[in-house]
Amino acid sequence: MAAYDNDNIFAKILRGDMPCHKVYEDTETFAFMDIMPRGEGHCLVIPKAAARNILDVEANDLASVIATTQRLSKAVVKAFDADGVTIHQFNEPAGGQLVYHLHFHIIPRFEGIKLKPHSGDMEDPEILKANAEKIRQAL
Ligand code: 5GP
Repeated sequence: MAAYDNDNIFAKILRGDMPCHKVYEDTETFAFMDIMPRGEGHCLVIPKAAARNILDVEANDLASVIATTQRLSKAVVKAFDADGVTIHQFNEPAGGQLVYHLHFHIIPRFEGIKLKPHSGDMEDPEILKANAEKIRQAL
């Protein structure tokens, strides 16, 4: 497995070198809106610690990320009055991973509405901003 790259996009977001629509932060984790959402309210949870994916993350960092993923899952269901929630997590190119800093996708789901393609269209920043605010309010 390749080494962790300090210049991956999510590391830049964590350092504040790249903008994002932040949803939540604590000492170990950070959450923000996915720029190419597969559905309304699609957001991402990452550890602050450097980890490429589930294969190299420290167990305590993974536990923190999962706890935040559960917290955010409840918040998105409340914020969007969703019927369910889908969690995705990809590892290495063969596993579908595109950005090499561990992340969990949280996607609110609605009866009869299919997911849009992975890494499809860029969302309007105003919509991302409004959706981030909705989730924050539901936390
Ligand atoms: P994965 O590595 O899980 O296969 O996919 C990476 C995810 O990160 C995709 O859902 C993609 O839309 C999202 N993404 C890629 N670049 C950026 C970015 O610069 N900002 C944000 N907020 N999301 C991104």
